[in-house]
This record gives sequence, C-alpha cells and structure tokens, in this order.
Amino acid sequence: MGQWDLSSELDELKHRELYRSRQIIDGAQGPTVQINGVAFDNFSSNDYLGLANHPAVIKTFQQAAENYGVGSGSAHLICGHSAEHHALEEELAEFTGRERALVFSTGYMANLGAIAGLVQKGDEVFQDKLNHASLIDGGRISGAGVKRFSHSDMSRLQQLLETSSADKKLIVSDGVFSMDGDEANIKDLVVLAGKSKAMLMIDDAHGMGVLGESGAGLIEKYGLSQQQVPILMATFGKALGTSGAFVAGSEELIETLIQKARTYIFTTAMPAAVMAATRESLKIAQQETWRRDKLTSLVVRFRRGAEQLGLSLMPSETPIQPVILGSNSAVLSASSYLKEKGILVGAIRHPTVRKSTERLRITLSAIHSESQVDNLLLRLEEVIC
Ligand SMILES: *Cc1c(COP(=O)(O)O)cnc(C)c1O
Repeated sequence: MGQWDLSSELDELKHRELYRSRQIIDGAQGPTVQINGVAFDNFSSNDYLGLANHPAVIKTFQQAAENYGVGSGSAHLICGHSAEHHALEEELAEFTGRERALVFSTGYMANLGAIAGLVQKGDEVFQDKLNHASLIDGGRISGAGVKRFSHSDMSRLQQLLETSSADKKLIVSDGVFSMDGDEANIKDLVVLAGKSKAMLMIDDAHGMGVLGESGAGLIEKYGLSQQQVPILMATFGKALGTSGAFVAGSEELIETLIQKARTYIFTTAMPAAVMAATRESLKIAQQETWRRDKLTSLVVRFRRGAEQLGLSLMPSETPIQPVILGSNSAVLSASSYLKEKGILVGAIRHPTVRKSTERLRITLSAIHSESQVDNLLLRLEEVIC
C-alpha cells in the first residue's frame, strides 16, 4: 500500500501467531451463539447475567425507539442529553450510593475522559500493571507522569506514593481484573490513597451486576463509600447486557467531567433507547438475585471440576476463569479443538496479556446450564490433560 509495507507487517503478525480475526455471529447473544448456521456453547462473552437478549430489555428498547427515534442528534452538551440519559444517571447514582453519575458512550471513553479530565502534566497516575488498556491509555494521553506497579503489589505502590512529589496523585485500578478475574486489594488501596492524599479510581466493569447483594459491585461487597472510592467507573456492556458506561462520584467530580472530559464533550450521545434498555436491565439485575446465585454456583461447579482434572486455575471467584496455557500456539490449538467440539472460549494472547501467560479466558453466565459446564470440563480434559 503506497510507501508503507503493511503486508509484511501483517505477515509478521501471522508468523508470530498474533494475527487476529473476527468470527461472524448470526443472531443474539446467549448460552449458545450461531456461527454459519452452527450452534456453539458460548463461554467467551461478558454477558454474565444473561441480560443481553432478555425479552423485557428488548421490549423497553423497542418502545424507547418508538418514542425517541434512533439517533440522539448531537453531543450531550448540545441537544443529545435526553430524559432517558438523565433518568439512568439518577438511578445509577442511587444504586451506587454516590451523589451523581455521568453516562459515557463506552467504557473505553469513560476511562480516557475521566483520567485525562482530572490529571495533567505535573500530576502522577499510579497504575496496576494488569489494568485494562483503556485505563493505561487514559494515563498516557493525560500528560501526567505514569507509575506502574506489579499486579496488586501494595508495598510497591506505597513506595511509589511516598516518593512522589506530584501535585495530584491518582491511583487507578480494575476492581475485578478483566483477564485474571481476581479482585483488587480494594481495602488496602483505600488506606493507601487516604494516607497519601491520593484520589482513588476503580474501574468495576466486571464487578458491576455480579458482586454485592444487589449487584452494585465491589463497592457494595466491601461497603465502600464515596469518600473511600471517590471515582467509580463501570460499564453497561458486560453484566448489564447493553452498551455504554458511567462514572459516579461527588457533585464536583461529575461537574468537572462535564466541563473537561473530552470523550464526553466531543462525541454524540448514545441513543436514548440504549439508556432505556439499560434502566430496565439495571432493574432486573437488582431484583433477580437468582442470577447472581446461579452464577456463583456455576463458578463453584466449574472450579471444583477443573481442580479434579488438575487444571491450574487462577485465584478467581468471579465468572472470569482463565486457564493459562503459556504460549500462542497452545492457546490457538486448544481453542480451535474446543470450537470443533462446539464450544467458544476466548483465546487471549499478547499484548492483551503478558507473554507466557497466554490463556483460554473462560467466562460463565447465569444462563448457562450445569450440563454445558460439565461438557466444557470434559472437553478441557481431552485437550489439556
Ligand atoms: C470492557 C472494559 C472496559 C471498556 O468498556 P467498553 O464499554 O467495552 O468500552 C473498560 N475497563 C474494563 C476493566 C473492561 O473490562
């Protein structure tokens, strides 16, 4: 292509088994998905509560499209901020016990916008090395200094905080780590932030809907107030089964983001119908506690079975259950064997995870059946053990 040799760069990726391609899904998300007319047990999505194709959520979406049309027409600050956006923000603030919430079009944008809207050159951002790419990128584009600490290494974080002379310090962490499934040391993070007068931002994309009595995530599980976790971010595209994200916190935080978060200001607001659908799924996620109970029992069933097979699991109690295989080729061949047997799992390679931690990322959902989980275990035994 012109002066650039993209094709040899692509060949290089293929050679290193890092080439990525998409599969085309026909129809809705669910415990099985269709590809080219063939059904696969789906252990690769983040639809943890099974709400992405829930009839009530679909119905609400359709009705809202009748009322609001499809496009939102503009950015929030012009004329795109509808009554549905506003109502969802108020419900999220109440749900999370925060003064206010602000919806963003995606989680990626929420993280970029929040970090870059709050810190700049002269400030410092402290990041867990396993933080989601959007948090890492937010730190980069903010212009602030970035300090990364080994995964959950609290004494290293303490050291970095103590030696920092930055004007503003911002500690950023996944709440539940997206590729490992383990929780952040949230209580230690709160203490360290308090001691060093740092702000703490938690991205609870994978805890929202899944953890806590009513599904409000890590902050509910550990009873953490707005003062303890002043910047809370979570997404709608995972357990809530829709699309979009929010940041919740104090009145001043939200007003600051409205003024300064460029990914909020310079983008078209989400369709109102997506907000309406999310309000419905938020209600279902809170009320139908059986979904969390079922998910927990499937996680226990999977882990017990995997331990009996001698698979090495990660310390994860969440629906994210990675099986580390340690090389690109091992991951690719295991995932293609599983696919032959009618099972979809994520084949996760570098740079999504560190080299030699390449893994199958198995995710469970409340709408999986026990026999689907048992069959997955059987196939894992055939391919790995
Ligand atoms: C998925 C995810 C995001 C990005 O959210 P999107 O809405 O998909 O852009 C951010 N942080 C974490 C931890 C995630 O898992």
